[in-house]
Amino acid sequence: MSLIVIGSVALDDIETPFGKADKIVGGAAPFACLAASYFYDKVKLVGIIGKNFPKSEIGVWHNHHIDTEGLQVDEERLNFYWSGKYHTDMNSRDTLETGLNVLEDFDPIIPEAYQDCEYLMLANLAPSTQQTAIKRLKKRPKLIVMDTMNFWMDIALNDLLETIKLIDVLTINDAEARQLSGEYSLVKAANKILSMGPKYLIIKKGEHGALLFGEGKIFAAPALPLEDVFDPTGAGDTFAGGFIGYMAKVGEVNFTNMKNAIIYGSALASFCVETFGTEKLKNLTKQEIDARIAQFVSLSKFEIL
Ligand code: AMP
Repeated sequence: MSLIVIGSVALDDIETPFGKADKIVGGAAPFACLAASYFYDKVKLVGIIGKNFPKSEIGVWHNHHIDTEGLQVDEERLNFYWSGKYHTDMNSRDTLETGLNVLEDFDPIIPEAYQDCEYLMLANLAPSTQQTAIKRLKKRPKLIVMDTMNFWMDIALNDLLETIKLIDVLTINDAEARQLSGEYSLVKAANKILSMGPKYLIIKKGEHGALLFGEGKIFAAPALPLEDVFDPTGAGDTFAGGFIGYMAKVGEVNFTNMKNAIIYGSALASFCVETFGTEKLKNLTKQEIDARIAQFVSLSKFEIL
């Protein structure tokens, strides 16, 4: 049994009101793999890196028991590159540049040893590549979670619509839910998106938490109000990785477990934003995670007298 994460492995240039970071390791897959590794010890990565990617980073992933047999190395071409600049409120950002490079024609090869996959995280990547990954698994995983973004809605909408028919849980942010559905109300947007194929939808709302829709129910999870948010990059991927990692740990797919998984994903995301890149996700302890979970519980617990 294993959990496959397929997604971009990036070098990011990030500018926030608090500083700048150049060519730091990012990408959807590293954030998601590291987050999932805190709950599940059989995380397997599928992705591609280019000639300028710092190979020492792979050792960090191995320390987290992340299997990298499915990580391709292209020594000819440059790594995937992304640069973004956050607005003062940190809730929104502009993509300055996306250099697909090695990702442009990435063919996701699934090693034979990965065919025991029960949990599949399709982290941010071209929807056609996400779809290929699903089709290359001989047995359909028990749970397929897919994350995507407005970039793909703009340039590959048809592929995206085809791919979401094949999955269980879609995670997108509120602006993307509105773009995909054409509805302003998030409830109407969710109903429309659920009619497109996914059984569950998670709408991420940054510092305002997340909403889970499915089985005719809605669950609202808060985000932890933090004193300092340094760099929100990767929070969505960390959230999704923590979510699926926790689901893999508990092993049963239902709405109740997903509610807890959302809280665990949110807790991991709250660590992610405290430093640039994946730094904070490299050395968390169980005690730190448990303390955050306790904060989430007390944050939203109340009694009607
Ligand atoms: P998030 O903040 O969770 O949306 O994720 C940000 C990460 O996604 C960054 O580390 C980027 O390298 C990566 N990313 C940005 N654009 C894309 C894209 N079009 N495809 C795949 N990954 C991307």
